[in-house]
Amino acid sequence: MSTRPQTVKMTGLATARGFAVGPVFIYRGEGDVPIPEYLVPPERVEDELMRLKHAARETKRDLETLIAAVRERSGSGAERVFESHLMILEDPILAQQAEDKVRKDRLNAEAAVRRTVDSARASFERMNDPYFRERVRDFDDLERRILRILAGLGAEPVLSPDVPSIIVANDLTPSETVRLPRNSVLGFALNGGSSTSHVALLARAMGVPAVSGLGDVTSQVSPGETMLLDGTNGIVTLRPSVSSVLSFRDLVERQRELNEEASLVYPAGTLKDGSQVKLLANFHQGVPPESLREHGARGIGLYRSEYLWIGHDREPTEEEQFIAYREVAELASTLDPDGEVTIRALDVGGDKAMRGVSTEPNPFLGNRSIRYLLSFPEVLKTQLRAVLRASVFGKVRIMYPMVACLEEIDAAAEVLEQVKRELDAEGVAYDRSIPVGMMVEVPSAALNAEAFAAKVDFFSIGTNDLVQYTLAADRGNESVAHLYQPANPAVLSLVRMTVAAAKKHSIPVSVCGVSASDPLIGLLWAALGVDHLSMSTTYIPVLAKLFSRLSREDLNEISDVVCALGGGATAVEVVEKCRQAVASKIPDLDNIII
Ligand code: PEP
Ligand code: MG
Repeated sequence: MSTRPQTVKMTGLATARGFAVGPVFIYRGEGDVPIPEYLVPPERVEDELMRLKHAARETKRDLETLIAAVRERSGSGAERVFESHLMILEDPILAQQAEDKVRKDRLNAEAAVRRTVDSARASFERMNDPYFRERVRDFDDLERRILRILAGLGAEPVLSPDVPSIIVANDLTPSETVRLPRNSVLGFALNGGSSTSHVALLARAMGVPAVSGLGDVTSQVSPGETMLLDGTNGIVTLRPSVSSVLSFRDLVERQRELNEEASLVYPAGTLKDGSQVKLLANFHQGVPPESLREHGARGIGLYRSEYLWIGHDREPTEEEQFIAYREVAELASTLDPDGEVTIRALDVGGDKAMRGVSTEPNPFLGNRSIRYLLSFPEVLKTQLRAVLRASVFGKVRIMYPMVACLEEIDAAAEVLEQVKRELDAEGVAYDRSIPVGMMVEVPSAALNAEAFAAKVDFFSIGTNDLVQYTLAADRGNESVAHLYQPANPAVLSLVRMTVAAAKKHSIPVSVCGVSASDPLIGLLWAALGVDHLSMSTTYIPVLAKLFSRLSREDLNEISDVVCALGGGATAVEVVEKCRQAVASKIPDLDNIII
């Protein structure tokens, strides 16, 4: 009789907080498709041609179904990436080339597909235009689809568990995540990925836990096995004992109850003395708008406009952008009497790879974000026109990403003035006093915050990037995750400098990085004087509950205790000190943050 396999605990990165217990669904994406290559006997050539044509027809059907489903589900133009795959599939020249390889060279269908795609891919790779070089990914995707059908594996790796499951995968691409049936996902356990990847954002937006950077979890589990997923501490347990399954179920239930209780605390971010640390939503296309109201968001503190570009095969037009920005302006105005949306100008490059943006040797330090926009002013102008036009439909603020030096703010201001003049000449209405602010996410911006504060209307601290640039630790690299420390005293100093400059110039300052949603660190930012916190909506209720138990004076005391540690403390010590200080005000803290 075989013995029960042992329990295994694996540690990865705590990517999205929360707990889940459930069966494993293993998703195998790219890289698992066999590509046999052989010569077909002359009498079998016609059959092989039929196989090839059948695979093309099935792929077409699969893509059409996918396009319709994505269009219906997201309504955000996310289907365009698959439309371009369909166009390549229907290209008569490519189809002829593949058929010739079977008919004349007697290659099997898989080899014919591979060689045809290889030569198309190579000619795109040789092109100078980065847009065309990026199209290579479309060929990769399409090739994988056809090869899967030829291998009898089904049109597309199935990403739809029958019962709610924990998705275990290598990593998921944006195009895979748009196909996720949200109701059947309990959480994610990933070999790769990082705490700030696309899946991480999605998991937080869905309110499900995620652990990434697990190395080889996919090979350690079997489909249907029970897994415990602890996204708060970055741990997964494989083949758990019955008693630990039961206690984990209690934890999941407790978490659900807490969220329900906490979501009754409105308006989110009201302290017990009535003062406010408004809790706002980070939002982008693909996040269900109703989740903002459900969780009590009082506005949109960060609208990531790059989602109108990422995964699409062309730039959004001014009209498409205008429609998207108008929708978020209107949405924000329904959330709070002062509900506003902060639209961040296209933040591209680094972790946010996009078609048409060339790959650089060191993209995190390259021509990204505001640098990219200033080197392609037409892109910035179009975006600013759309934002200004939308500004009459709600309270809209413009925010520039990755600002590193004053000249960038001046140059962007010039473009904005030019756009305003154009709109004036055309008689188009817009908010003439639209606030213009910047992300503080590069250390130079925090160090020189006073000078910046004199030039902008608000600051939003992007700790995701600020931490990586301060500690020189790539936000997406799990091997340096231990150095990625939002509570490092050096980061705290930069936040304090930014807050001090903002206060001196009477401009508001928020934090919109992931750290804002960590209950203790979010409280710490507020204690240091940050006015608002912006986060994935599912984290709002717990913070709202904590704030409702504290006064401004309590926050000041927490700040004093933590700041007294100075630069000699480790990040772990800072968090622990913060926990003690908060627990002295909220004795049942451990029942609220689980
Ligand atoms: C940040 O850097 O903290 C941020 C909010 O922006 P992003 O994660 O989109 O870079
Ligand atoms: Mg950033």
